[in-house]
Amino acid sequence: EHIANQIAAGEVVERPASVVKELVENSIDAGSSRIDVVAEEGGLQLIRVTDNGSGIESEDCELAFYRHATSKIQSGKDLFSIRTLGFRGEALPSIAAVSKTEFVTSTDGSGLGRKLAVEGGDVVTQEETSARKGTDISVKELFYNTPARLKYMKTIQTELGHISDYMYRLALAHPEIAFTLKHNGNSLLQTLGGGDLLQVIAGVYGSAVGKQMIAVGGESLDYKISGYISRPELNRANRSAMSIMVNGRYVRSFAVQHAIMNGFHTLLPINRFPVVVLHIEMDPSLVDVNVHPSKLEVRFSKEPELVKMIEDMIKEALGRQVL
Ligand code: ADP
Ligand code: MG
Repeated sequence: EHIANQIAAGEVVERPASVVKELVENSIDAGSSRIDVVAEEGGLQLIRVTDNGSGIESEDCELAFYRHATSKIQSGKDLFSIRTLGFRGEALPSIAAVSKTEFVTSTDGSGLGRKLAVEGGDVVTQEETSARKGTDISVKELFYNTPARLKYMKTIQTELGHISDYMYRLALAHPEIAFTLKHNGNSLLQTLGGGDLLQVIAGVYGSAVGKQMIAVGGESLDYKISGYISRPELNRANRSAMSIMVNGRYVRSFAVQHAIMNGFHTLLPINRFPVVVLHIEMDPSLVDVNVHPSKLEVRFSKEPELVKMIEDMIKEALGRQVL
């Protein structure tokens, strides 16, 4: 069991940002409307995620740290038809196997909850405690018992970069959730929740960019699209500020990126890219996770229709601006 957890940890927990990803996805799955993330030293010293979600029942707390005890589906094929982000039930056991994890959780407003401490995969304490509704997990000293893995870590700045990139995507995918991210006491992200995507864009890219965004949207029988694009003059040197969300999940699509660039046509210099956030709502059976789920690359089964919609939508929005 220990060995299996450490092997799984090698796949699930590549770096601090993977811990943030798994913990925050759990918080989203738990229906949280507020998620606070604190990291110290690029997440290697501490990653703490506090949410106001459903919490974990006392009798399930220990179970959550056993591999596959909670697995919801058997294959990754239908990644988009399942409602929740987590599905393998191996994140918590993997994280706990390579860190000192503490966790307080409560399922109601009684003020009482459960507290667990797990070290290198062993549950070391488990007790009743006072707690607010929701879950508060602290992952300390990541990779303390796997020195080879620890040696692989890049600088604090690099690890933090991965964490904040990931948090920005999540915030852009979930404007209905209030997120905060703090690193070594500095606030790096604060969104208000309530569904205002423009506020999230301003939080991620700065208020100057937020003020210059143009709303875009469109609807067909198969696709409902909404979001924002930047004015062409706010362009960037790389495509990392182009975010595509499908049913609330960040994805990569070469076809959609291409459609966006075609929408800008002659307005962008070669090798310059807009800031774009597009939310696409659709029947999950019309999207295919290509090759490997973790690569996030997707294919749409009615891709020409979607591509044309996006191109037209952007041309129309930019045309309105020129007038
Ligand atoms: P998965 O997300 O794949 O089911 P995890 O190992 O990430 O597996 O989590 C195990 C289980 O613990 C989850 O299925 C969920 O029931 C519970 N859990 C984990 N984190 C939270 C949380 N923040 N709030 C409520 N339940 C949680
Ligand atoms: Mg999970």
